[in-house]
Amino acid sequence: MKVGIVGSGLVGSSAAYATVMTGAASEVVLIDLNHKLAQAHAEDILHATPFTEPVRIGAGDYGDLDGAGAVVLCCGVAQRPGETRLQLLERNAAVFRQVVGQVMTHAPEAVLIVASNPVDIMTEVVSRLAQLPAGRVIGTGTILDTARFRTLVGEHIGVAPHSIHAYVVGEHGDSEVLVWSSAKVGGVPVEEFADQVGHPITAEVKRQIDDGVRRAAYRIIEGKGATYHGIGAGIAMLLRVLRGDTRSVLTVSAPTEFGDLGPVSVSLPRVIGAEGIVATLEPVLNAEENAAIRRSVQILQQAAATIRL
Ligand code: ADP
Repeated sequence: MKVGIVGSGLVGSSAAYATVMTGAASEVVLIDLNHKLAQAHAEDILHATPFTEPVRIGAGDYGDLDGAGAVVLCCGVAQRPGETRLQLLERNAAVFRQVVGQVMTHAPEAVLIVASNPVDIMTEVVSRLAQLPAGRVIGTGTILDTARFRTLVGEHIGVAPHSIHAYVVGEHGDSEVLVWSSAKVGGVPVEEFADQVGHPITAEVKRQIDDGVRRAAYRIIEGKGATYHGIGAGIAMLLRVLRGDTRSVLTVSAPTEFGDLGPVSVSLPRVIGAEGIVATLEPVLNAEENAAIRRSVQILQQAAATIRL
């Protein structure tokens, strides 16, 4: 599968590296306004390919997306000093208007993966611009938050994160919801197993894990300015799922009709195959979690209402 990555900054280049290292594509095309940057990353990653499954990687232009099975959008402009979130959103919407038009011209069959932040809003923007069939636009959403949740729970109870079934849903951001009530390990409720192994998940442990998931980006940004390896690996996983038509469940963002609240792009667990999202799971939530996801949806709807294309 040929994969295009538009935006070769920290997230785009990290996604490209993870994609190459995990054999998630047969060919990777890096595109950036700053062509020299795309070229430099492509050349650097090319030198890793003798150590990976055979894969081609190079910098290119939109014309090189011809035949791509997936295009990842990691492009965007950074917030200027004094700029409001709304102004930033307008500038990024302008970038996406131009980029999505080019991508659709040259790779009309591709699944679009949106990784630029605020990811739920950018997923909404891309969905409106691209007008593709439902499921063909996938926002990375809470894919990484779910990974962080599983990692921290797994560390606490001494189990690999792969064996933990726990999900973060809602906004990729402050209002996201950690679904503790249905978190399981080997079919056993996580909290019961934690008691069995003598590492109970007390209110304090829950608070620490919640903070570890919800505030992770703030801490990482404080230490090194940006987060990119985690999301890069998440993007590569999404590409492996698309390439292999594996029907895996991942928490990703997509336009969703949310009952009486109406539509918005938000993360829920979704089944993903070669064509994109093939089904959405409705999580079983307790009353508190249900109230929290409704709040999250409303926050996103307020933000989405400001989109002007
Ligand atoms: P992040 O940390 O999210 O990766 P960066 O600022 O490092 O953020 O990367 C964003 C990249 O998007 C930059 O390399 C920038 O040149 C690129 N970019 C911005 N606008 C466009 C555009 N219109 N087309 C292609 N790439 C773009």
